[in-house]
Amino acid sequence: MIDFAVIGSGISGATISNKLNKKYSVQVFEKAKGVGGRSSFKRYKDKVGFDHGLQYISPRSKEFKSFVKKLIKKKVIKHWTGNHEFLNERVKRDKKHIKLIGVRGNNDISKYLLKNVNCDFQTELSEIFRKGDYWTLKFKDNSITYSKNLIITAPFPQVKKLTSKFVKTELFKNKVKMNSSLTVLLVTNKTGSNLSSLFTNDNILGWISNENSKKRFKYNKDLWVLQSTYEYGGKHTDKYRDKRNFYTRVLINKFTKLTKLKIKKIYFSHIHGWKYSSNSKPLKVESYWDKKLKLGICADWFGGPRLENGWLSANSLYKKINIKNL
Ligand SMILES: Cc1cc2nc3c(=O)[nH]c(=O)nc-3n(C[C@H](O)[C@H](O)[C@H](O)COP(=O)(O)OP(=O)(O)OC[C@H]3O[C@@H](n4cnc5c(N)ncnc54)[C@H](O)[C@@H]3O)c2cc1C
Repeated sequence: MIDFAVIGSGISGATISNKLNKKYSVQVFEKAKGVGGRSSFKRYKDKVGFDHGLQYISPRSKEFKSFVKKLIKKKVIKHWTGNHEFLNERVKRDKKHIKLIGVRGNNDISKYLLKNVNCDFQTELSEIFRKGDYWTLKFKDNSITYSKNLIITAPFPQVKKLTSKFVKTELFKNKVKMNSSLTVLLVTNKTGSNLSSLFTNDNILGWISNENSKKRFKYNKDLWVLQSTYEYGGKHTDKYRDKRNFYTRVLINKFTKLTKLKIKKIYFSHIHGWKYSSNSKPLKVESYWDKKLKLGICADWFGGPRLENGWLSANSLYKKINIKNL
C-alpha cells in the first residue's frame, strides 16, 4: 500500500508530492492527460504551443522568490520581457512586477517537481472511503487504490464534493467563490505585431497574449491567447459548449478591434471554459490536515488567485504533516 495518494498534478500537487517523495512512497492521480492543471500548456505543433491557463508568475513572498530564483538558475523558468501594455488602470500596478514563464511551457514547474514521482494520468477520483486505518480510493473507471494518507489539491467545489463526509470543520463553512473565464487559443497569419501582452479595459476580453513573444519557438504564424474577463466568463462559461463558434467569434472580434491588427487568415482556434479559474478572497488558513484521518487539502484557493498561493499552501501542509510525525 502506498503512503500517500495525491490528487492533482498542478503546482499544489506537484509541490507536496516532490517533498513527500523524498521520505515516503507517493502516487499522483491526475484526471487530465498531462501535468500542470490550470498551468497547462497546449501543444500546437512540435515546440509551438499556448499557455492555456496561467500566463505568468510574479513572485511576491520571500519564500517563493527564493524558490523561483533556483528555478531560473536551473533553466526551468525565464523572464518574459517585451512590450507588455496596460489599458486597464486597475491593474497598471502589475506593470512593475516581473513576469516569469516556463522555458518550454508554463507547466514546466510541475514537470520539474514531478520528475521522480509516479503519476497516473486520465485517472479521475470519484469517491473516497475510510476503512480501518487506510483510504480506499475509487476512480471513474471503477479501479480501486488503497493509501495510508490522502491529499487532495482540486478547486474548492470539487474538494467539497469529495470530502464533505469527512471534513467536519469550519473549512466548508467558508464561501469560496471561484471565478469562471473563457479562453480562446488562436493561430493567425504573421501580423508583424510587437505586442507581448495586453491587459485591456474591455468588459468582455480582459487579456491578450502573443505566444511568439515568449521566445520558445520560431514560427511563421502568430499564436494568441485571448482571455475573457471574469465578468463575462461568470455569465457565459456554463453554456459555452453549446455555442462554441459564437463565443470564439465574440472574443476574436474584440481582439481585432482592440489591437487593430490585420488578421487575414485564422488557421486554428479553440475555446475552453474554466469553470473554476481562481478565487481572490483568501481564507484564514493556508492548508488543511486531519492527523487522525490522514487527510490533507492544499490548493491556491486557500490563499488567493495565483500559482504562488498553491505553492505556499502545499508548503504549509507539508510542515503540518512533517511536524506531526506520521
Ligand atoms: C485562465 C487562467 C489564467 C491564470 N493566470 C494566472 C497568472 O497569470 N498568474 C498566476 O500566478 N496564476 C494564474 N492563474 C491561476 C493559477 O493557474 C492557479 O492558481 C494554479 O495553477 C493553481 O494550482 P493548483 O495546483 O492549486 O490547482 P490546479 O492547477 O487546478 O490543479 C488541480 C489538479 O487536480 C486535478 N483534479 C481535480 N479533480 C480531480 C479528480 N477528482 N481526480 C484526479 N484529478 C483531479 C485537475 O485536473 C488539476 O490538474 C490563472 C488561472 C486560469 C484558469
